[in-house]
Amino acid sequence: MAQHIIIAGGGSAGWMAAALFARLRPAPDTRITLVESDAIGTIGVGEATIPILRNFNRLLGLHEPDFVAATQGSFKLGIEFVDWGQTGNRHFHGFGDHGAPIDGAAPHHHWHRLHAAGRTGDPIDAWSMPALAAAQDRFAPPEALRGEAAQYRYAYHFDAGLYARLLRSYAEARGVTRVEGRILDLERDAETGDLRALLLDDGRRLDGDLFLDCTGFASRLLGQGLEVGFVDWSHWLPANRALALGCARAGRFTPFTRSTAHAAGWQWRIPLQHRTGNGLVYSSAHLADDAAEQLLRTHLDGAAIGEPRLLRFTTGRRARFWAHNVVAIGLAAGFMEPLESTSLQLVQTGLVRLAELLPAGPVDPVILAEYNRETIAEYERIRDFLIAHYCISRRPEPFWRDMAAMPLPDTLAYKLALWDAIGRVPLYAQESHQEPSWVAILLGQGRLPRGHDPAADRPPLDGLATLLAERHAALSAAVGRMPPHDHFVARTCRAEAA
Ligand SMILES: Cc1cc2nc3c(=O)[nH]c(=O)nc-3n(C[C@H](O)[C@H](O)[C@H](O)COP(=O)(O)OP(=O)(O)OC[C@H]3O[C@@H](n4cnc5c(N)ncnc54)[C@H](O)[C@@H]3O)c2cc1C
Repeated sequence: MAQHIIIAGGGSAGWMAAALFARLRPAPDTRITLVESDAIGTIGVGEATIPILRNFNRLLGLHEPDFVAATQGSFKLGIEFVDWGQTGNRHFHGFGDHGAPIDGAAPHHHWHRLHAAGRTGDPIDAWSMPALAAAQDRFAPPEALRGEAAQYRYAYHFDAGLYARLLRSYAEARGVTRVEGRILDLERDAETGDLRALLLDDGRRLDGDLFLDCTGFASRLLGQGLEVGFVDWSHWLPANRALALGCARAGRFTPFTRSTAHAAGWQWRIPLQHRTGNGLVYSSAHLADDAAEQLLRTHLDGAAIGEPRLLRFTTGRRARFWAHNVVAIGLAAGFMEPLESTSLQLVQTGLVRLAELLPAGPVDPVILAEYNRETIAEYERIRDFLIAHYCISRRPEPFWRDMAAMPLPDTLAYKLALWDAIGRVPLYAQESHQEPSWVAILLGQGRLPRGHDPAADRPPLDGLATLLAERHAALSAAVGRMPPHDHFVARTCRAEAA
């Protein structure tokens, strides 16, 4: 069916789609065309990722040092949360676990037991390799280490505009045709309702078989064209504005993203080689735009570069992601705030799922249904994870009180109830954040369960305390052998001066 794939939009989503389908061309004679409008431009904010992006780059065959240098990138071991839960709090969501199970129970159950017995004052981060390395601004890929110390993953920070440029060269070198123009109208088959062609502002017409809607928040094809509705989640995630502002590099060159909670939202700090990316995500019902700008400017660690960019959004997703012969990818499919850097993940998983399901011949409706079912589940799992960051907070400001009081999705309420009872995190299908991620957020914000896995009561308390102290010491020693993040970048993937 997909002899001619048309990709509408040339932001990160569009060029990731073009690169992937150029690499995994459904049939040797499949043509791929990408249309984008320079006049409209891209969002291009995404600067922090999660480890799964490494699989995407590997699939394309991108050489890591070249990719990091070309995108002014840096390495990311996780996210440091500052002032979340309550002011003065600091915890780390690392890309890794807190160690192997002991006597059949995950480490956080043992932590709970030691904590309840007054035998540890350390946070659970003391057993997280990425958290320990991040605290010292050190970075090395896990392949450089051995044993338990090597059990972690990493991701990147990068300039999203440069990533799109890199993927564009990659895709064009593999036969993707780029068309510059604005989509004015759509032509649909009167009988089937399928999309037949995109009509551009200069009169050109682009006929296709499969259309990927990567037109960003406009959702020009799926939302506007096919009138597929939007499922609004802003009652759960009310932040609806972001102010993005780069600043000159100053302070630490951290191998992690920092997320700092404020009275009505939170601020990101993303270290790149040529600048530091910053942004404030907030709810306009709780904070005025000018006050938000003031707040953002007072929390930069270097001189501002240019003017802040205001982005308005509504959290939610399209009711369906694939309808007729149109599949929405990226912001055209939905958006949840960048708290856990999940947008490019959703672009990637959507594309890979599509590539896996796309048949050579006609599309059976059950294939569409399956694509939509899996994608909806993935969005909902991420939604719950993001809500959890807010609803467990004990901060006193009205925004946070509202978040703590709101009725939760049943799936999340159940998860938190089980956590509170016994420290277990039930996982559902399409869950991208596994138990250690939930543990990092829940314990990190001080949400202590009432009980723990009975298996954690088996080892003698003294032996357990010694074992975990030894684990901490071994990880700390391994961290000591890692190079500082800035040295590692300078040695392996230094970018040209911007
Ligand atoms: C505040 C904020 C922070 C973010 N931070 C992160 C992060 O840290 N990590 C992360 O993974 N993601 C992040 N994201 C999300 C990330 O920026 C996007 O998911 C990603 O850039 C994909 O965007 P896109 O390509 O879907 O849309 P866009 O970048 O908006 O691109 C849309 C494209 O469609 C084209 N277009 C639109 N209408 C037409 C038309 N009529 N005719 C022709 N072309 C058209 C435009 O020209 C453009 O090329 C963030 C998003 C926001 C808003």
